[in-house]
Amino acid sequence: MSLRLQTRMDTVLAEPEFEEILQHALAGEELSVAEGEQLLQAEGPELHALVRVADEVRRRAVGDVVTYVVNRNINFTNVCVGTCKFCAFRRSPGDPDAYAFTPEQIAAKVREAVKFGATEVCIQGGLHPEFGFDDYLAILRVVRNVSQSIHIHAFSPAELDHAARRDGLSIEEVAKTLREAGLNSVPGTAAEILVDRVRAIICPKKPSTKEWTDIIKTCHRLGLPTTATMLYGTVETPRERAEHLALIREIQRETGGFTEFVPLAFMPYNTPLYHEGVVRSPPNTVESLRVHAVARLMLAGHIDNIQTSWVKLGPRGAQIMLGAGANDLSGTLLEENITRAAGGKRQAMLPKQLEKLALELGRVPMQRTTTYGLV
Ligand code: SF4
Repeated sequence: MSLRLQTRMDTVLAEPEFEEILQHALAGEELSVAEGEQLLQAEGPELHALVRVADEVRRRAVGDVVTYVVNRNINFTNVCVGTCKFCAFRRSPGDPDAYAFTPEQIAAKVREAVKFGATEVCIQGGLHPEFGFDDYLAILRVVRNVSQSIHIHAFSPAELDHAARRDGLSIEEVAKTLREAGLNSVPGTAAEILVDRVRAIICPKKPSTKEWTDIIKTCHRLGLPTTATMLYGTVETPRERAEHLALIREIQRETGGFTEFVPLAFMPYNTPLYHEGVVRSPPNTVESLRVHAVARLMLAGHIDNIQTSWVKLGPRGAQIMLGAGANDLSGTLLEENITRAAGGKRQAMLPKQLEKLALELGRVPMQRTTTYGLV
C-alpha cells in the first residue's frame, strides 16, 4: 500500500515525521512508545492516514473476516469492597439494590445461555467481602453441573487477587485449582491503564501494574489464556496509553497467552469521576479511532485480534472501529450490567445483528469460540 495520501488536504498537511512512523508500521517494524504516543494524538489528515494504515495492517493480519462470540455475561454480585472511581456498578453491603445471585439463579442463567446457543459464559462480579475462594469454586461447579462443555471465561485478576488474599493462598494455587474445576480462560479486565500514576487516581485498591502483570503471567503459565483490556478516557495521557500497549506487547512476547486486545471506552455517567467533575463525557469517536488504530499498529505481530465493544460505542460506533483496525465484534452478551450502570443502553445483540454490521462493510462475519477457533 502506498502511503501517498489520497486527498489534496492530506498531501498538503501530513507531517513527514508522522508519515515515517506509519511507513515503519506498514513495513512490519515495531513501534516505540514515543511513536505510539505521537500517533495517539493524530488529527485531521494524519488521523485519516493512521486509520487507513491500521485498516491495511488489519487486512494483512486477519483478512476480511469479522468474528464474534455467542455468550452471556453473568455479573453474580455487585457488592464490592473496591473503590474504583470509574465504576458505577459497585454497591456496599446493605445498599437497597445490592445483590448476590444464589446458585439456583446462576444455574438458571447458564441454562438460558445454553438454550440460546451460547458457547461461553463470561462470569465476573464485585469483590464481595464475604466471598472466599470456596465461593468462586462453587460458581464453577454450578456452571459445570448445567453444562460440561460451555466455555467458562471468568474471574478477573482483581477477583483472583481477592480470593487469594482473603484465604491466604497464592495466585498460583487459586488459578490452578480453578482451572482444574473447569475454568477455561480469564478476562484480562482490571487492567484499566497499566501505569501506577493513573491507578493511584482511578483504582487505588486494585492490583498494581506489577501485580496485574504477575497474575496474568501466572494464568498464562498455567495454561489459562486471557484477554487484554485497556480502559481509555479517564485521566491518562497519550503517553500512558502507549506505555500500556507496550507492556501488553511485552507480556505477549514472553507468554503468548493473550487471545485478543479489547479497548474499553470509559462510560462516566453515575461514576465518582463524573460526580467529582473530573470527566464529564465519554471519549469521542476521534479518540476511539486513535486508540483502536494505534492498538492494531503497536500490537502487530503479537496480538492479531483487536476487539471493538458495541456495548461501549454502540453498534454504529463499533462498525466504525472495524474500519480502523478492529476485526472482532465481541459477543452477543445477552445481558450486560456494568456498562448499563454507567449510562449505557444496550444489553444484547443477536448474532444476525452483529453479522449485519460486518456485512454492511463488505466484510465476512464468522462466529468464533472464546479462543478464536471457528464454530
Ligand atoms: S470496577 Fe470492580 S473492583 Fe472496582 S469498584 Fe467496580 S466492581 Fe469493584
